[in-house]
Amino acid sequence: MVKKLSFLLIILFMITLFGCGEKPVEADPKPAEPVIIPKEDEEAPEPIDDPVEVDPFLGFETEYSLFVGEKIDFEELYKDKLDSFEVSVSNNVLVVRGKIVEAVREGSSKVVILSGDNTLIIDVTVSLKKEFKIMDEYVSDGEFELFLNEEVALPIALYNCTIDDLEITVGNDNIEVNGWKIKGLKIGESTVKIKLGDVTGLLLVYVKPLKVTVLNDNFNIDCLDTLKIHLQYPKNLVDESDINYYLYKSDIIEIKDNTIYPLREGKVKVRVQIGDDKDTGTVFEVNVTVDPIAIITSLNQENALMLREIRLYGEDSNGQPAYVTQEFMGSVSYYFFSQLNLIEQIIDIYDNPYVGMTATPEIINQIDKKKNKECPGYPRSGVLLTGINYITYHDTGNFNPGAKSQSNANWMTNSYSIAATARSWHYTVDEDQVIHSIPDNEVTFQGDHYTAYTESIGIETCVNQGANLDKVWHRMGKLCARLMVKYGIDVNHIKQHYDWMGKNCPQTLRMNNLYDYAIRMVKAELVVKKYLGDYTIKFESLNPEYVDDTGQIIKAPLEEIVVSYKVTITNNSGYNESVVLQTKIKPFN
Ligand SMILES: [Zn+2]
Repeated sequence: MVKKLSFLLIILFMITLFGCGEKPVEADPKPAEPVIIPKEDEEAPEPIDDPVEVDPFLGFETEYSLFVGEKIDFEELYKDKLDSFEVSVSNNVLVVRGKIVEAVREGSSKVVILSGDNTLIIDVTVSLKKEFKIMDEYVSDGEFELFLNEEVALPIALYNCTIDDLEITVGNDNIEVNGWKIKGLKIGESTVKIKLGDVTGLLLVYVKPLKVTVLNDNFNIDCLDTLKIHLQYPKNLVDESDINYYLYKSDIIEIKDNTIYPLREGKVKVRVQIGDDKDTGTVFEVNVTVDPIAIITSLNQENALMLREIRLYGEDSNGQPAYVTQEFMGSVSYYFFSQLNLIEQIIDIYDNPYVGMTATPEIINQIDKKKNKECPGYPRSGVLLTGINYITYHDTGNFNPGAKSQSNANWMTNSYSIAATARSWHYTVDEDQVIHSIPDNEVTFQGDHYTAYTESIGIETCVNQGANLDKVWHRMGKLCARLMVKYGIDVNHIKQHYDWMGKNCPQTLRMNNLYDYAIRMVKAELVVKKYLGDYTIKFESLNPEYVDDTGQIIKAPLEEIVVSYKVTITNNSGYNESVVLQTKIKPFN
């Protein structure tokens, strides 16, 4: 009864508030509505202070669509509506941390919210987000650049969508975009507007004229190094063979296969361009530096070559293959601190029908005395080489103590050689001098091969018993370097007689495994000839008992010793530097 009474009181109170308030006075006021008091036996509404069974999740979202990486923070969402609740998920499409749910995989899942006895189940579908991104690494100074007529891929990365999902519009007709491809049609600026859903992006585009540019930071190069030139040009528009280099001076560097090869000290401007179109070009300056002391230091021999026995190959008095032996003492440097001592002793030329003609196989047949006993013009053919492209390295195969340069050179003109084997060559080198017998550009019969006859300078090195062979090979190196620089012959074009036709020549170098040693001397002379040609090099032995004034070892020590020598390098521009270098000399083993 108490309950019902209080209910009535509340109804009365409410009527007081909402029903029986002052009303505006009306012209014809109606009588007030009677208050209806429900009868006791009528069904009464639930009392208001009873707990009402209302779903606490009423009105909450029960479906979500998320992209991978997106989160729902239920704490934030529900904090004003629920006192306490717990969050769980149905599978690993989602992960839950506290009350935050994160979509981590593509798929569908359920989020379960528990609040007291009430449960809310939320369906969540997770998909991968469709996105595009302008790739900044292809954009410089805010613009994407392409060459006129160049067609390249748009610098756009797509995530979970295809190019067809994008709405692409170009700013003007300087460019066209076709699928992934963008093409430069006219020089100038343009834009590409990209739209995906409600996200837009803008790519600024510049169509530039065709040009080759250089990416290297600097072109300072030591003369002993090479330097690769890194170029930038549209590879899809320009063939590599259309790239041309122009040197403003031709004798300081060479460029082959985009690589700079120094020839001498100095600066040179270079223009690289496409075809013969100067406007496509870039000019850069190459500075070749020479460090003379570093060059001489690099040629030092740390250990002098000392051999108790070296074999000199030739023939015995019966004409049978034989050898004699002697001691061998090397030197302190691969460079020979001496003069070449070249003697010009050109043999007379006798008249013949081919003088002045350039070699052909037919002419060579006619003047090869091995093939034509009646051939004219021996030992000088007068026939010109087709090119001076090789040097052929021989030795005389004559260990006779008197078989020095003069007697070997004389052999070419003596009656015996004319009648019999009839060989000829250009130079003869011994320990003291070089004799030049036949002009460099003239065919000689050495090397047993057409190319050797018609493209190579043949040089005989003396292996006479008692000779200082190290000096012979040093001198040969100096002669080779001189000819290599003069005729532009590469070190790979120094051939052994053996390389042409398999003859075991130069036999003494070959049989003693010293050919590489001799070639190191050639290379040393070449470096000095090329880069220190304008310098004066002065040598001083600091141990003259063991090392002579050319750098040759002249005495074998009884125990290992270290000898020193001083090299002073000067030039007309005031360069004047010295270095003291050291070499170990071991006793004969
Ligand atoms: Zn030979």
